Amino acid sequence: MLRLTLDMDDVLANTHEKLVNIVLSDFSTTLNKEDFEKKGLRELLHPKQLSRLHKIMDTPGFFADIEVKEGAIETVSKLSSYYNIFVATACMEFPTSFNDKFAWLRKHFPFIPWTNIVFCGYKSIIHSDYLIDDHVRNLHAFDGQGILFTAPHNLRETAYKRVSTWSDVSELFLHIV
Ligand SMILES: [Mg+2]
Repeated sequence: MLRLTLDMDDVLANTHEKLVNIVLSDFSTTLNKEDFEKKGLRELLHPKQLSRLHKIMDTPGFFADIEVKEGAIETVSKLSSYYNIFVATACMEFPTSFNDKFAWLRKHFPFIPWTNIVFCGYKSIIHSDYLIDDHVRNLHAFDGQGILFTAPHNLRETAYKRVSTWSDVSELFLHIV
């Protein structure tokens, strides 16, 4: 079976949406929801706001209740009949997130065995046929075929095959099978 590796934040989980909701409700800003659909948080927020957000993300519980992206559970479940599915999340930056992330995956994706869950730093360590990720820096480092999952911070990237929804992922990979 070919290996298909999935990123967690902004691929399986709607992390960007949770962050935007926090900014809109708790931060002082004139930006609105539409602004955050066109550009990444790093481009839009003041460095002070970014470090405040960083602290919030580093608080236990932040990653526990993030919403699953629409169609992700059904599609990953289907794909697991044809691919060896792995999840690789570069979460060493937020060590407090480990328990929440692991529990989140067990809750929403119980059919992915713990043996296939990788908490990592650089994704160059991942040996897989495919990697779906929203960060080009992770795809650059990866030596299989990288697929970019659309997010506000990567709209201008053109170097990779792109998917924007889990329906796109389903079409692409079930077709390859
Ligand atoms: Mg991500």
